[in-house]
This record gives sequence, C-alpha cells and structure tokens, in this order.
Amino acid sequence: MKYSCMQHKNKYPCAIVGGGLAGLCLAIQLADKGIKVVLFEKNTFPFHKVCGEYISMESWDFLCTMGLPLQELNLPKINQLGISSQKGFMLNTHLPLGGFGMSRFSLDNCLCELAKKKGVAIYDNCKVFDVKKNNKNESEVHTSKGIYTTRIVCGAYGKYSPSFMKEEKNKSLNYIGVKYHINTKKIPDNKIELHNFKGGYCGISKVDKETHCLCYLTDSTNLKNNANDLKKMEQNVLYKNPFLESYFTQSTFLFNAPLIISNIYFTKKNTYQNPLFLLGDAAGSITPLCGNGMSMAMRASKIMASLLPQYFDGAFSEEALQKQYHALWNQNFNTRITAGYYLQFLFGKNNTTHYALQVLNKTPYITKKIISLTHGTSF
Ligand SMILES: Cc1cc2nc3c(=O)[nH]c(=O)nc-3n(C[C@H](O)[C@H](O)[C@H](O)COP(=O)(O)OP(=O)(O)OC[C@H]3O[C@@H](n4cnc5c(N)ncnc54)[C@H](O)[C@@H]3O)c2cc1C
Repeated sequence: MKYSCMQHKNKYPCAIVGGGLAGLCLAIQLADKGIKVVLFEKNTFPFHKVCGEYISMESWDFLCTMGLPLQELNLPKINQLGISSQKGFMLNTHLPLGGFGMSRFSLDNCLCELAKKKGVAIYDNCKVFDVKKNNKNESEVHTSKGIYTTRIVCGAYGKYSPSFMKEEKNKSLNYIGVKYHINTKKIPDNKIELHNFKGGYCGISKVDKETHCLCYLTDSTNLKNNANDLKKMEQNVLYKNPFLESYFTQSTFLFNAPLIISNIYFTKKNTYQNPLFLLGDAAGSITPLCGNGMSMAMRASKIMASLLPQYFDGAFSEEALQKQYHALWNQNFNTRITAGYYLQFLFGKNNTTHYALQVLNKTPYITKKIISLTHGTSF
C-alpha cells in the first residue's frame, strides 16, 4: 500500500513511541515528506525533563530548517566552558562550536506544536505498553488509547526501555540525575560551567526566560550514603566544591522540588529490536559530560527520516533498512560515545580530576581535541 494512502482510523504507515527530541523531530521530518505519522507520549505536553539544557550548536541549522524560529527566541549562545575540581581549581576554555540554552519545557513543547501544525497525530498522556507483529506482518502498537496498526514502529522512548522491550538489566554503576531552575548572576550568559564533586558533576548554564539550569549527575552510592536524603547529600558531598556551595546557597531556586531521575546508565544499545527501529537514547546514551545527547537524538532522527521514505517507496526491504540505519548510526556516533565513556572516568573524582584539569589547562591543544571528539559538525 502506498504510504500516503494508509490513513484509516488507527492505521498509519509509521508510529513513534516517545515524544522527546528524537521522536518529535522524526515525526516532523516525515510529515514534511508526506508520510502520515502517529506519535505517542506518556506525559502531557508541556512538561519538564531532567536535562542540562545545553544544546550543541550542531543542531541549530537543523532545528531552523524544520521550522523552529530559534532566531526570534532570544536564546543565550554559549561559547565559554569552565570546569572546576572539588579543590576549587577552574579550567576555562573556549568552546569552538559552542551551543545555546533552551529549557526542555519550551523546546519539546515548541516541537510538539510544530508537529501538530504539520499534521502529525500526537497522542500525549498515552502510554505504549506493547508492540508486536500480527499475522499480516504489520506491527500493532498497544497504547492506553487503543491499538494502532503500522508498517514501521520507531522506538524513541529515551533512556528507560519499556518492559515490553525485555532488555537485560544493566548491573553496572548507575547514576541519579537532578535538575533545578535557578536565578543567579554568578555566571555570564555565554558560559557553561561543569563543577566536579566526588562521584559526580553539576552543569550550570543559562536557558530561556532569564533562568539558569542547574543539573547534576551523581553515582547512586552518594545518595545511599546519605540516608537517601537529597538535601543532606548536596550539603555533605556537592558543597565540598566551593563553586557549588556558593551556587546552592546564594541562588534563588524556582521549582518547589527538584526533578529527579534514577537508574541512569550510559551504554550503547541496539539500533533495531524486532519490530522497533531505535533512535535517541533508546539506541544508546552518551554521558551528559559531553553535552550533546540531544543533538545525537536529533541527528539520528535525520538519518531515519532520510531512509524511511525510500523504504516506503519500495526502494529497499525492511532488512536492508535495518542494515543501512545501523551502519549510518555507527558511522555518526561510535567515536563520540567511546570518547564520552572514557572521559567519564576523568570526572567526578577528587585528585584525578584536579590534576587532569591542571594538565589540560597547560595543554590547550589537547583540551580542544577532547572537546571536538565529543561533538559533531552541523547537520
Ligand atoms: C542529567 C542529565 C543531563 C543531561 N544534559 C544534557 C545537556 O545539557 N545537553 C544535551 O544535549 N543532552 C543532555 N542530556 C542527554 C539528553 O537529555 C538526552 O540525550 C535526550 O533527551 C535524548 O532524547 P530522546 O528523544 O532520545 O529521549 P527523551 O527526550 O528522554 O524522550 C523520550 C520520551 O519517550 C517517552 N516515553 C517513554 N516510554 C514511553 C512509553 N512506553 N509510551 C509513551 N511514551 C514513552 C518519555 O516520556 C519521553 O518524553 C542529559 C541527560 C541527563 C541524564
């Protein structure tokens, strides 16, 4: 069946599980190419997400081309990076490509509105609880708002695999992510700071609406060692870094309570798990240290959006689609996922991080090289 004709009620050529950056961007691009898409998001737009909200500049042109009026939003552009050790040493460097700040509340909601305008069927407050093939070799997506039949299902459900994906539980060290929005005058609008503490690091940079995002990642043992009391952990662990102590004690915190997520792992997963094509964090997440998981999610959506129309036109089989997508994914992301994985070992330590930052401070060439390994070019 020709893809543009397949639009009976509850029947779409393509369904997307998850309305984060990967899912929404894929939906918009497919709609632009005339493909009918349905997208399911378990939360209700707009909503906050745990994220550092620093977006690598590599995505700027992509977002503008899709129709997001970034230029008009007066967003902070960030081209300076400061990294501090717990002992109070700060490495300052220029970010060659840089980034911009926008809260996920605003960004995801703008993309959702854009997708709706372009004809994407968006069901929010709608959880997908199973995806399986029926006896006509179509995929059935079982959601809290009914069953939908599709030819292709894309999993853009983020870092937590839904139970129907039957993924092996990762037993390695896991992390907790915490986010606040704050008002502070301590950091220039064009700077992002990463402050290390034992077992984690905290990023601070400006976003839209004259606020700053303060978001940290800590290994879960820090919380356990502090009787699962977040405030106590912040005071006992994060405040040991003098920069963090001053941010925590001298800023206005805007949320009633922080946003918290747990059980975070940074690993490469799969690009396909029958019958879902996976993109964004669902296919593998990078340490936030590298500051560009969002751009990777958007870039993966662009790769998928370039292949799917050819598949629907009959240019290649589903198996060939799997192979091509897998090859392009590896080509685009393997280096930075590996770089991010090793970089993670240098951070969140007391002495190691301190001495590493001092060495990097004296070797700007190496610092630039490391930063460039974790970033891509404009797409
Ligand atoms: C602490 C921390 C800080 C970070 N800081 C940065 C940063 O500064 N810059 C950066 O570029 N990246 C950062 N990242 C990474 C970035 O947040 C992710 O890489 C990015 O959000 C991935 O986008 P995604 O679309 O794959 O997933 P998400 O944005 O997580 O979207 C997935 C969506 O799927 C929905 N969903 C899940 N399951 C279902 C289901 N069963 N049914 C329906 N919907 C479902 C979820 O509700 C969610 O909205 C950070 C990550 C962490 C943990």
